[in-house]
Amino acid sequence: MRDIKELDFKELESVLKSWGMPAFHARQVFRWIYQKGADDFGCMTNLALTLRKKLQDDFYILGISVIKALCSKDGTEKFLFELKDKNLIEAVSIPAEGRITACLSSQAGCKFSCRFCASGMFGFKRNLTCAEILEELHYLKAGSQNKRITHVVFMGTGEPLDNYDNVLKAVRMINSKDGFNIASRRITISTNGVIPGIKRLAQEGLQIELSVSLHAADDKTRFRIMPINRIYPLKELMRACRAYVRKTNRQITFEYILIKGINSDLPNAQKLSTILKGLNCKVNLIPCNPIEGLNIVPPGEDETRSFKGHLIRSGVHVTLRRSRGQDIEAACGQLRSRYVKK
Ligand code: SAH
Repeated sequence: MRDIKELDFKELESVLKSWGMPAFHARQVFRWIYQKGADDFGCMTNLALTLRKKLQDDFYILGISVIKALCSKDGTEKFLFELKDKNLIEAVSIPAEGRITACLSSQAGCKFSCRFCASGMFGFKRNLTCAEILEELHYLKAGSQNKRITHVVFMGTGEPLDNYDNVLKAVRMINSKDGFNIASRRITISTNGVIPGIKRLAQEGLQIELSVSLHAADDKTRFRIMPINRIYPLKELMRACRAYVRKTNRQITFEYILIKGINSDLPNAQKLSTILKGLNCKVNLIPCNPIEGLNIVPPGEDETRSFKGHLIRSGVHVTLRRSRGQDIEAACGQLRSRYVKK
């Protein structure tokens, strides 16, 4: 038995052909699964019974189950899922200003151990399959009463560019008009700076958004909070980002979480504006979410304002973001960390 979401449109067409069935049924099956949110072949009433039976014998639609769903006062919904092998992952949907953003995980656990992030606290388990990633979206869509999910961001647990092939396959299915049909410009991959992944992504010809979790503007500071900086140092990362922008003609977004006493004072803002000079980009400033067990606090309002002010005066496009869903622990890995033993 295989998860049918592992198959893209062409692959399903070939399966149908190999069964001696017309390939056009692939479109109907896709519509049922991705647009109507069907979780059972039996309900696909416009398919012949024999085909439904054949699908049922060879495939399943849902391979993950919801073990906890939480709704925040601000409308943010968070799901904790159990995979077939009992690993736990989480995903969040965030409604705001006429949009609903689905925040998806790409791996069970995380191997990168960023010092401010709950996701790495329990180590790395494994990559998610394409089907598991798509199922997160299936449940988020069902959770919001089948309201249209308008945006998708890979900002849950894990590093999407460290699970490149499965994430890219999922991105194509999310984007496909026979799949979730979400415009490529509304799909964001967020990376901690896996340079080979950024280089590959530049060649894909996709119009998706790239977000880079920068969080520091010099090697010493970045290495302190992001061990990956030892493998992919800042200068090389910035070179890869510049090459990405040149090749794709797309703007990059840099995520910069502000952590008091680490990266949030004026000299850091000055360094940041220097390394971004002349680059087509914007910066999302996010006061860090304090996380139990990790010794981090956000700076005060004044320091935050002055950091932002410096970037604006230097001509950097900057937005100050507020963390959402704090009452349900919606920051990366926070819900999972309650359920996974160390
Ligand atoms: N591995 C990818 C995607 C997952 S993290 C990446 O690093 O981009 C998604 C975003 O949440 C990243 O920008 C990450 O730095 C941020 N994040 C993690 N822990 C946080 C915290 N405690 N407070 C605020 N943002 C956090």
